[in-house]
Amino acid sequence: MPGKQRVLAIAAAALLLAGFTFGFFTHWLASPKRGNDVATTAVQETTVEQDGGVKADGSGGEDEHRPPIRLEFDVSRAMKDIAYLSSQIGYRPEGTASEGKAADYIAMRFSALGYGEVFQQTFLLDNGATSRNVYVVDEGEDTRLAVVVGAHYDTAGGTGSPGANDNASGIGVLLELARVFRNNDNVPTIIFAAFGAEEILQGYGKDHHHYGSRHMANRLPELGYTVVGMISVDMVGVGSTMVLNSTMQAPRRLLDLLAAHAGTLGLRPTFRQDPGWSDHEAFEKRGIPSVWIEYREDPHYHTPADTYDKLDPALIAQAGRLLQSFLENLDGADLNSLENSTFYR
Ligand SMILES: [Zn+2]
Repeated sequence: MPGKQRVLAIAAAALLLAGFTFGFFTHWLASPKRGNDVATTAVQETTVEQDGGVKADGSGGEDEHRPPIRLEFDVSRAMKDIAYLSSQIGYRPEGTASEGKAADYIAMRFSALGYGEVFQQTFLLDNGATSRNVYVVDEGEDTRLAVVVGAHYDTAGGTGSPGANDNASGIGVLLELARVFRNNDNVPTIIFAAFGAEEILQGYGKDHHHYGSRHMANRLPELGYTVVGMISVDMVGVGSTMVLNSTMQAPRRLLDLLAAHAGTLGLRPTFRQDPGWSDHEAFEKRGIPSVWIEYREDPHYHTPADTYDKLDPALIAQAGRLLQSFLENLDGADLNSLENSTFYR
């Protein structure tokens, strides 16, 4: 090879090698796999250590391509809240200081789950005392249509009941669902509401109850969403039969959807037309498809024997997992059908 040609060949080989090396490094730097590994680790650590406080879809995070990590209903977390309400606070009749302590605890727990805004509605009872609703909003893909998931935290006045099943069990499920949905994706906007003063006010007639849920149901525009369904979680820790209750004052659409979904999970809940003995009553009166989920019967209902040790965590887990799965599967068509069957009064 003549000298000049040899120089050109070496120069060409050097250029090729340089180009290959540059290409390799730029490819390695831009590798999406490498970026995802870092992000996945970050999400898992955040989820475990911060109580699911950061949305896995990346909102609020640094990496827009963070893969979603779905959380599952964890009954052991629900049991801790139930133990605190029933054993640490105990008897908490409406309008009393101990009911207020329970409201403060629930507000603190919502904050700890990462909800930036914890809303409170204060209302007056017929005896002049006050009580509160405490609620948070998990905005879904649909930012207009909402489902209220509610549970009451007061106990029946004059009974001395610590209300482990009625209804610390419902609050435990509510808080755990709020943790899961703060992280997981969902189509409907979900309003997680802890109601005060559900029980009959001591010394008053039998219609002097459901103060918290009636207060919210009578002020739905305040929520800022169109409520197309309501689920009351009340007494889900004792009993042998899962029961879905409705007063039948509103269309049964939500109850039917929930019953059908339960069937796909191998559950066979019983239907019961109830006189309106939980917080769904106020929403059904407004024409909103609603359902009260419970297990029957609880032999310790409204007695001092309604204690933590009587609860069956397997029932609470079953109710919690059913509601998680149901709410995750509610799609736009379901929401439209709920809206179309709602008649606001
Ligand atoms: Zn109750």
